[in-house]
Amino acid sequence: MARMAQVAERVTERAPATGYEAVIGLEVHAQLLTESKMFCACSARYAGAEPNTLVCPICLGMPGVLPVINQKAVEYTILTALALNCEIPEYSKFDRKNYNYPDLMKGYQISQYDLPLSRNGWLEIPDPTDPEKTRRIGITRVHLEEDTANLKHVRSETGETYSLMDVNRSGVPLMEIVGEPDLRSPEEAGAYLRALRAILRYIGVSTGNMEEGAFRCDANVSLRPRGSSTYGVKVEVKNMNSFRAVERALAYEIERQRALLERGERIVQETRGWVEEKGITQSQRSKEEAHDYRYFPEPDLPPLFIDRAWVEQIRARLPELPEPKRRRFMAEYGLSPDDAATLVSSRTLADFFEQAVRLSGNARAVANWMLRDVRRLLNSSGIEIEQSKLRPEHLAALIALIDSGQLSVRSGPQVLEEVFRTGTAPEQVMREQGLAQVSDTAELEAVIDRVLADPRNAKALADYHGGKQTALGYFVGAVMKETRGKANPALVNQLLRQKLGG
Ligand SMILES: [Zn+2]
Repeated sequence: MARMAQVAERVTERAPATGYEAVIGLEVHAQLLTESKMFCACSARYAGAEPNTLVCPICLGMPGVLPVINQKAVEYTILTALALNCEIPEYSKFDRKNYNYPDLMKGYQISQYDLPLSRNGWLEIPDPTDPEKTRRIGITRVHLEEDTANLKHVRSETGETYSLMDVNRSGVPLMEIVGEPDLRSPEEAGAYLRALRAILRYIGVSTGNMEEGAFRCDANVSLRPRGSSTYGVKVEVKNMNSFRAVERALAYEIERQRALLERGERIVQETRGWVEEKGITQSQRSKEEAHDYRYFPEPDLPPLFIDRAWVEQIRARLPELPEPKRRRFMAEYGLSPDDAATLVSSRTLADFFEQAVRLSGNARAVANWMLRDVRRLLNSSGIEIEQSKLRPEHLAALIALIDSGQLSVRSGPQVLEEVFRTGTAPEQVMREQGLAQVSDTAELEAVIDRVLADPRNAKALADYHGGKQTALGYFVGAVMKETRGKANPALVNQLLRQKLGG
């Protein structure tokens, strides 16, 4: 049974739905890193704050108050839209989206409907089936709205259920990025989300943290016969709290719809929630149409005229974005698509890499250290490169110590770990821990003489003289062991040959 389940999972995640093609579009909500909320002066940095302490009559939804637009939030949304190659219309406005849910203080959310801040963009992602290629995914629009309050559903020990409400999140600027239904597999959806989050982080508008709810994703998924250009009935999937969850939920949903279609059954247009523990999607409610929200222009806010000069000022601030940077890293440093993707995954990591390469002149060595040992240290300590004590000059110095034979390749990781932890210069760590490689000829010769004279090595010695050249490796190993790995292997090799040959 367990084996069956495993096989089933592999099938749902790998095999394309036979005869059918998946059509996936993602809607991402990203909280903006502004100081204050969207329409009031309350702090938007609510993480760790006591519940209901960052509130005022506006974000509490009291009647008779007047919202004021946060200009920084508009600027961040335009910056994002430009990074996503969108058009920025000159005229934009806010609308009321009406619906009843306890987390919505006013009974409506201020959002944007027919005149968003931007539209018609695209995002380039690495093609999961061929990392040498890229795919262009359409961006329908990027618009601005406000976040809702946070509901926490509680079940007490006596089985009583109730909900707690924290209004701190209400009114936090929220950017919605609507993608075109251009994605064709769960893997592509994952690649899209990673690429999008990397951009938001590069331009500094959002933490992109999915676990903390700063970056949320809903997916629309439908199936259609391969070769068809019309769309099937779509299902909206919600409640996914990680990229992995999005990929799993989509794989499950594609398989569920395929099974229904193959049995000749109909797909119901609805919203389904991903249940992480069970690995399934469950029906939540039938999907609302836009007219259910009774959108109308927000009467308390003026329309926005977006000045062209301002847009150009914002555009001029765009840094080199992750995908162009990835391609440049491949061309300039000879990196593989995957290695380049890892190094550009954060702007600070990419900057660290380039700085270390400038100092050391050895891109291959810097890349190897960063992709293997530095990455392992970052993962195990759960921090980002900028939070570590490691600096580009440390990595360059470490590589120089190894290149010059002062430090063995074997001891490198141990030195790196200490530098990473304490910020001490590699050379000092090497000296303090007694890891300097022994390149003193006289010292090594004494060890070699001892090893060759050891009766336990007599057989290997006879083998060598009998013509078995591989016995040399045995002696190198024995000398390394004697010196606890600190002997310079090249020098040991050379000295051994002299002794044995002479
Ligand atoms: Zn407020």
